Amino acid sequence: MANKILVYIDHFAGQVVPASWEAVGVGTSLAEKLGSEVVAVVLGHEVETFAQNAIEFGAGGVLMGDAPELKDYRPEPFARVLSQLAAEAEVLLLPTTSRTRELAGMVAVDLETGVMPDVVAFEIEDGSVLATRPIYAGKLLTKVICPEKRPQIFTLRSRAFVKPEPDPGRSGDITRIELDLGEIVTEVTGYSESMVGVSLSDAAIIVSGGRGVSNNPRLSPPTEITDEGEQEIWRAQQGFALVSDLAKVLGAAMGASRAAVDAGYVPYEHQVGQTGKVVSPDLYIACGISGAIQHLAGMRTSKTIVAINRDSDAPIFKLARFGIVGDLFDILPPLTQAFKERLG
Ligand SMILES: Cc1cc2nc3c(=O)[nH]c(=O)nc-3n(C[C@H](O)[C@H](O)[C@H](O)COP(=O)(O)OP(=O)(O)OC[C@H]3O[C@@H](n4cnc5c(N)ncnc54)[C@H](O)[C@@H]3O)c2cc1C
Repeated sequence: MANKILVYIDHFAGQVVPASWEAVGVGTSLAEKLGSEVVAVVLGHEVETFAQNAIEFGAGGVLMGDAPELKDYRPEPFARVLSQLAAEAEVLLLPTTSRTRELAGMVAVDLETGVMPDVVAFEIEDGSVLATRPIYAGKLLTKVICPEKRPQIFTLRSRAFVKPEPDPGRSGDITRIELDLGEIVTEVTGYSESMVGVSLSDAAIIVSGGRGVSNNPRLSPPTEITDEGEQEIWRAQQGFALVSDLAKVLGAAMGASRAAVDAGYVPYEHQVGQTGKVVSPDLYIACGISGAIQHLAGMRTSKTIVAINRDSDAPIFKLARFGIVGDLFDILPPLTQAFKERLG
C-alpha cells in the first residue's frame, strides 16, 4: 500500500457525488508525477457498481468495503475503515462534502496527520503535494504542504477540477476488504426530503434569491394574512416562485442568501456562502442579493455571475460579469419567458 494515492468515493442516496470522479482525475495526474498508483475506496452496501465506475473513471484498482452496516454513512465505522486503509498511503483525496469534512478530520486524528480542506489546485514540491486553497472567505489563496506526516489528506472543492471522461472498456482489480467495524453506536432512522432534493454543490447553473425577493409592495397579501411577518413570508413565496420558475427553465438548482434563509423564506439547504454551501457553477444568477462578503465567499468562483438588483451601487455588481439594475419582479418573468422560448 505504501506510496499509494487513495481516493475516497463519496455517495449518498444511491448517487456518487460527481466530485469523487474529479478526485479520481486529480489522483491520476498526481500518480503520474509521483510514480505511484491510484486506488479508489468505496464503502457502503451493494456498491459494486460504484467500484466499477471508479475503474472507468481512471482508478487502477478499488478497495471495496461492502456490508449492510455500511448502508448509511455514519462517521464512526467509515472513519475506522478508512483510517485502516489510509495508514500506509502517501495521499488521501476526498471530494469536499459535509460527510467528508468530518471523515477527513477523524482519519487525520486517527493517523496523527493533517487535513488540507477545499483544495482548488495541486503541484508537487520536493516529493510532497503542494495544495492551493482559498482562505479569508475566498479573498486570498494560500499554498499549504504537509512535508513530513503521511498520509497527506486533501478534500477537493467541487467543480474546481475537470471530471475525466469515463472509459467503459477499462479494467482493474476490485478487492473486497475484510471489515473491522468495531462498535457502531449510532443508527440512521431516516432522511427528510429536503436533504436529498437540492444538489447545489454539483449544479452547473444556480439561480439564487436574497432578501430582495420579498420586496414587492405592489403585491397585496390575501386579507386573511394580517400579521406583518406572515405577509413578508407570503411576498417572499411569490418572489421565490419567480426564482424557481427561472431555475426550472434553465435546469438549475435554487440557492439563497442567509438573510433569505434566516427570515424563513427557504430552508437552510439552499444557503450559499460562508456558513452555507460553497458553489462553483458555470452560471450564477443572483436576484435581490446585495453581495455581502459572506455570500461572495460561497460563490465568487462561479464562472459567470449575473446580478439583478434595483440598487446600482450594490456590491454584487463589482463581482458580476453582467448586471441588470431594476426590480426583480419586473425582470424575472420576461427573462424566464425569453429563456423558455429560446430553450424550448
Ligand atoms: C458569521 C456570518 C456568516 C454569514 N454567512 C452567510 C452565508 O453563508 N451566506 C450569506 O448569504 N450571508 C451570510 N451572512 C450574512 C451576510 O452578512 C448578509 O447579511 C447577507 O448575505 C445579506 O443577504 P441579502 O443580500 O439577501 O440581503 P440584503 O443585504 O438585505 O440585500 C438585499 C438586496 O436586495 C435588493 N433588492 C431589494 N428589493 C429588490 C427588488 N424588488 N428587486 C431587486 N433587488 C432588490 C437590495 O437593493 C439589496 O441589495 C453571514 C454573516 C455573518 C456575520
